[in-house]
Amino acid sequence: MRITGLLVILFALFFSVQPSFSSEEGEVNFGDFTLLPLTHASFVLYGADKTIYVDPVGEAALYAKYPRPDLILITHIHGDHLAPELVSALKGGGTRIIGAPTVVEKLGYGEAMSNGEAKEFNGISIEAIPAYNTTPERANFHPKGRDNGYLLSYGGTRFYISGDTEGTPEMLQLKDIDFALLCMNLPYTMDVEAAAKAVLTFKPKVVMPYHYRGKGGMSDISKFKELVEAGEGVEARLYDWYK
Ligand code: ZN
Ligand code: ZN
Repeated sequence: MRITGLLVILFALFFSVQPSFSSEEGEVNFGDFTLLPLTHASFVLYGADKTIYVDPVGEAALYAKYPRPDLILITHIHGDHLAPELVSALKGGGTRIIGAPTVVEKLGYGEAMSNGEAKEFNGISIEAIPAYNTTPERANFHPKGRDNGYLLSYGGTRFYISGDTEGTPEMLQLKDIDFALLCMNLPYTMDVEAAAKAVLTFKPKVVMPYHYRGKGGMSDISKFKELVEAGEGVEARLYDWYK
């Protein structure tokens, strides 16, 4: 009897000290969303009481401490954004999977979303923003029309995830963005100067570089911050995505 009681207490204690989502280290407040950067282009996002994984790649163990995703959102088919075996291991019975059409083709399941389309997930509006290279020599990396960035709106927060892109006209036309995650690496996307120039045009309130490791190493995100903050009205927030 006593032992049973002790076991019950131990059991209760064990579950009560499980880390809650909101106390995770390294979480970043993005208004109505909470961002947990993992690496390069992969992150966990918490919003509308749901857990969203964006471009999950890497070891499954990296995700073990987070709740199972209600939604997996994938920008494009490159290996630093899409890992079919991992997606299959991470998804649960109720997980929605949304990706660019080529992503869904590669996975063999999921909901395809083309550039410009919109969907809703538990009150979060999701819009697929075209992501592509505008520099002719780089067009092979991300040809126009194939890949997505995403604009998520929930509560009072508009959060833009660039995906792999340069400063396209569609990006430059974005309005009222509160938070933006922006890629900057060569030769695949753009350099920090081009990224800063784009940001100073569409003027998100806060921009955070991600996806900034390129062929020649890390892009100079301090330089990016300096360039952005020399302009007006945009705060650049740096986070070490590669620790
Ligand atoms: Zn890519
Ligand atoms: Zn990439």
